[in-house]
Amino acid sequence: MPIATVNPATGETLETFEPLGPDGLEARLARAEAAFREYRGVGFEFRAELLRRAAGVFDTEQEHLARTVTTEMGKPIAQARAEAAKCARALRWYADHGAALIADEHPADEDTADSGAAAALVRYRPLGPVLAVMPWNFPLWQVVRFAAPALMAGNVGLLKHASNVPRTALALEEIFRRAGAPEGCFQTLLIGSAAVEGVIRDDRVAAVTLTGSEGAGRSVGAVAGDALKKSVLELGGSDPFVVLPSADLPEAVRTAVRARVQNNGQSCIAAKRFIVHTDVYDAFAAAFTAQLRALRVGDPADERAELGPLATRQGRDDLAALVSDAVTHGATVETGGVRLDGTPGQPGGDGWYYPPTVVTGVTPEMRLHHEEAFGPVASLYRVGSLAEAVATANDSPFGLSSSVWTTDPAEREVCVRDIEAGGVFFNGMTASHPALPFGGVKRSGYGRELAGHGIREFCNVTTVWLGHTN
Ligand code: NAP
Repeated sequence: MPIATVNPATGETLETFEPLGPDGLEARLARAEAAFREYRGVGFEFRAELLRRAAGVFDTEQEHLARTVTTEMGKPIAQARAEAAKCARALRWYADHGAALIADEHPADEDTADSGAAAALVRYRPLGPVLAVMPWNFPLWQVVRFAAPALMAGNVGLLKHASNVPRTALALEEIFRRAGAPEGCFQTLLIGSAAVEGVIRDDRVAAVTLTGSEGAGRSVGAVAGDALKKSVLELGGSDPFVVLPSADLPEAVRTAVRARVQNNGQSCIAAKRFIVHTDVYDAFAAAFTAQLRALRVGDPADERAELGPLATRQGRDDLAALVSDAVTHGATVETGGVRLDGTPGQPGGDGWYYPPTVVTGVTPEMRLHHEEAFGPVASLYRVGSLAEAVATANDSPFGLSSSVWTTDPAEREVCVRDIEAGGVFFNGMTASHPALPFGGVKRSGYGRELAGHGIREFCNVTTVWLGHTN
């Protein structure tokens, strides 16, 4: 895949970039190693100030960053601004809380006291340069949710961003530079995915985190395993959105629409499978389909657009193929399901649009049942009981998050106990927050980002034994 900015709303290539050659890559790896030796020694106050200044750059550059993101991957402009604002909040959150999350621990108890270990402590030390292989769908946020805790812990960052968001990738490096990061602390590597293995295997690189597809996860996880390096994988999802009879139905429908189409439907934690109890199914299905059909599809730079194009032609074609496969095997398309060629309202354009689509009658024979629909396609399932809802929710290779609509505490307990996912959100949409761990189980990956769990992923948990100190 060439490293290039291609506007998904028009299909026009705006700029192409030369990938880093061997010398350029070597220079950046050397700089990262040198930077780490210095940066691991600076105090939390310096690191927190660095994050606060970076947050300030996100604030002042918000409009420019939002336009860059929308141009490169097609997210509606208001959502791009919100993404930049979220980055600033997360940076400030780690600036405020990071030091406490990895403060020294003093695990002394009666046992350790007896054995003379009363003065032992645990220190969270940084690992070194961490490679972050990142996706285009939240091209600012995915990077910041890695970078804020990593830098706060004293690691240094090497960003290999998706090949279709190079301007955003370079803007991120520039933000940390302007924030006063010591040279080499946060660098963007303009490289293709074929060069990732060599970087992971490089002795100077301590660990790798990848957010992306299952295929990329297998590949990066295998190399990291072979190189015996720590890895975190945040992969795909096909999150269930379960609606039970006690749900506030109008609110559930409104949220379901948002949860499916936010970011043009290209979110790992978007609700993708809507599992609705038969008592409320007909009312839910009618309102949900009507509200999706009514969404304004259009140029994402236009403030009125609620749904823009998919980020890549391949992504749009893959999504269309999933729906075609379902129809071939007997599913029904309730709305949408036909590629929109050209920019809506601008005949002759070549944007990669796909309409909001609802599919019913989805069965396990169909790819749509098992695979991730990365775009505005909702699968609707009718179930007769809570047990059937949970079984359907779990009938997926993924386990990222889930949303359940009920006011019944007993039903809630069953869901928390039985739904196989990294999150269970009740009466609300799945979302990420700096204070809450984020990640999945099954083929959604392993490890956690955000909160204390995220900052500790790339730490050397060091036992410090203080024997006779006098
Ligand atoms: P992708 O094709 O896997 O790309 C993600 C990143 O991995 C890109 O930087 C890509 O580089 C790189 N990459 C791809 N194949 C690779 C390989 N074999 N070895 C090393 N690096 C490789 O995914 P995407 O299409 O950008 O993003 C969509 C996927 O990400 C969806 O499945 C979505 O659910 C998932 N996602 C997960 C989370 C989460 O937190 N769990 C969050 C957001 C997105 P190139 O661009 O150069 O190919």
